Amino acid sequence: MLTNSIEELKGIGPKVAEKLHAIGIYQIQDLLEYFPIRYDQYEQKPLHELTHQDKVTIVGKVVHPPQISYFQRRRSRLVVTLQVDNVAVKGIIFNRPFAKDHFQPGETMTVNGKWDQHRLQITIDQYRKGTLDENSPINPIYSSKGDLKQAQIKKWIRTALQTYQSEIEEILPATYLENYKLPSRADAIKEIHFPTSFQHLKHAKRRFIYEEFLIFQLQMQQLRKNTKEQTKGNAKNIDDQEIERLIESFPFQLTAAQMKVLQEIKQDLTSPYRMNRLLQGDVGSGKTAIAMVSMYAVVKAGQQAALMVPTEILAEQHEASIREVLPDDITIMRLTSSVKGKKRKEVLEAIATGKCDILIGTHALIQDEVKFENLGYVIIDEQHRFGVKQRNTLQEKGLLADTLYMTATPIPRTLSITMYGDMDVSKIDEMPKGRQPIETYWVKPNMMNRVFAFVYEQVKQGSQAYIICPLIEESEKLDIQNALDMYQHLSLTLEGRCKVGLMHGRLPQEDKETVMREFANNEIQILVSTTVVEVGVNVPNATVMVIQDADRFGLSQLHQLRGRVGRGNKKSYCILMADPKGETGQERMQIMSETTDGFELAEKDLQLRGAGDIFGVKQSGLPEFKLADIVHDYRALETARNDAYHIIFENKLLEPEYERLKSYVENSLFSDSTLLN
Ligand code: ADP
Ligand code: MG
Repeated sequence: MLTNSIEELKGIGPKVAEKLHAIGIYQIQDLLEYFPIRYDQYEQKPLHELTHQDKVTIVGKVVHPPQISYFQRRRSRLVVTLQVDNVAVKGIIFNRPFAKDHFQPGETMTVNGKWDQHRLQITIDQYRKGTLDENSPINPIYSSKGDLKQAQIKKWIRTALQTYQSEIEEILPATYLENYKLPSRADAIKEIHFPTSFQHLKHAKRRFIYEEFLIFQLQMQQLRKNTKEQTKGNAKNIDDQEIERLIESFPFQLTAAQMKVLQEIKQDLTSPYRMNRLLQGDVGSGKTAIAMVSMYAVVKAGQQAALMVPTEILAEQHEASIREVLPDDITIMRLTSSVKGKKRKEVLEAIATGKCDILIGTHALIQDEVKFENLGYVIIDEQHRFGVKQRNTLQEKGLLADTLYMTATPIPRTLSITMYGDMDVSKIDEMPKGRQPIETYWVKPNMMNRVFAFVYEQVKQGSQAYIICPLIEESEKLDIQNALDMYQHLSLTLEGRCKVGLMHGRLPQEDKETVMREFANNEIQILVSTTVVEVGVNVPNATVMVIQDADRFGLSQLHQLRGRVGRGNKKSYCILMADPKGETGQERMQIMSETTDGFELAEKDLQLRGAGDIFGVKQSGLPEFKLADIVHDYRALETARNDAYHIIFENKLLEPEYERLKSYVENSLFSDSTLLN
């Protein structure tokens, strides 16, 4: 059976088994599904078509016994002469004296290495006996640990295949194989390990990429369906008139996109099923208004609401703006780690007794001591800033609480269907009226004085500015030092003309609040800051964002920073100061100055940096696929998601044709990483 221990295989004893366990192989099927991490490919070309300095493959006959010479200590150089189409080619092998015995005169050898066209000479990396036809032109390379050799891994896989191939079951229903022209599971596994041609290998890979995505998406969709079905008894009595009155009191009209999203949220709130929704909207698109209205609706329906944000600054800011908008009879409280002692006790009690209607806070909200009386709705702002675990904990506090995740970091579609496949998604795809696109300029650091002159010009016209100081990796201290230097320099230069403020993460909480309040009230005109203002901060009168050493930031982060301006009706500017040496640095500056579309930027970021880098694989709960790549194979991902959706929601897994797929999904490895909601 495929579930047999690998020790059942000929040649594998306890010692070898232990080595295989170290790379995660326990059963026969683990061995069969231990896929190569890459393939070395050999292509034989006539000598005159080879390119100087390229890696090439040459097949030739050994002419006479190789010459070996030693130099320095333990270094050696082996010279072999190969006859290739009546031309003598010299092959050099360094530091592998034992290779001498493998090159017997008269023997035909396939060698691979760097080609020197002028000397007709090849520096050999790899060699094998025989012609290319006898060897596969595609050589799989496996990841290995310790002293496990490639050849051994290959040998055991071959043995396993010979013994067990007939037991490999197809898990996909036949219609899928036909429709997508995919090889059977058994054939594909064989081809993956022992490729017969580039074409066949490609098909085999295609099959497993689809299979991996499908299994994962089936789990996501199952989760989604479970949430919908199992969490009944959660319907809220929403009063439309109350909502309308509140909206009418706003100083602006909601955009059509905001209205549409509110409608979707209202439907979830009134439905008996638990809401599990992701709200995406570019920076400045007006997510906070949505949060306010929906929380208000829940409170009016007699339940509590909680808003979780990533920073204290943001918590304070949200509290202030929500207080301003909602009627006085709604009790709004804030809980962060800086709320201590008597005040903290008060807040905790108000939450437990139901006196507090809306609680705003940082991750302090998810501590054990926080107990709600009747939590009905949870909003998580800038959700990508929180780990999966933190998100779960808050939700567990109000067992059936409807949950809305808001994110301003536009998540590329490919990523969002991977990470949030189990959620419903709403999108604000429209900016409030009157917004002017932010003009972005990339300038070299030697323009500093001109930039400051421009900033001061804007300040004279009544606007405000941010100046973000360099991000120094892994040293908050240096970040602060930089901001401090800049602050002192500017305060001195502009003394008597305008007020400069300083903001960084290490300031005492009270000082942070004071600085932010003064900036919001235009008592401070220029705010020098580290990246702590990156998320969410809202001061619509600010029109200039200067980012020093901008090349040290990723695109998404730059976009977030830029989003701090352009939040009102005035024309806004973002100035990136950078002198990037590398190509991607320059490319990033270029892209930033050309586009203000967050989604486009996010896609580019994904391409430039890869998914793990943006979200941090562990944090995001992104599954690790063996062959599939969510960026490269996004089409397969979309197909798989569609198929999974139909299979789950039409209950197809219960049909006999789907039986094997069903049990495979239930036993699959992704289970751990799907606890996203
Ligand atoms: P974000 O989506 O980045 O959280 P906010 O909710 O902070 O955006 O909104 C950005 C700014 O736009 C705020 O000053 C807010 O008052 C304002 N705003 C929100 N909705 C509208 C609208 N429909 N029309 C005009 N201004 C709006
Ligand atoms: Mg926001």
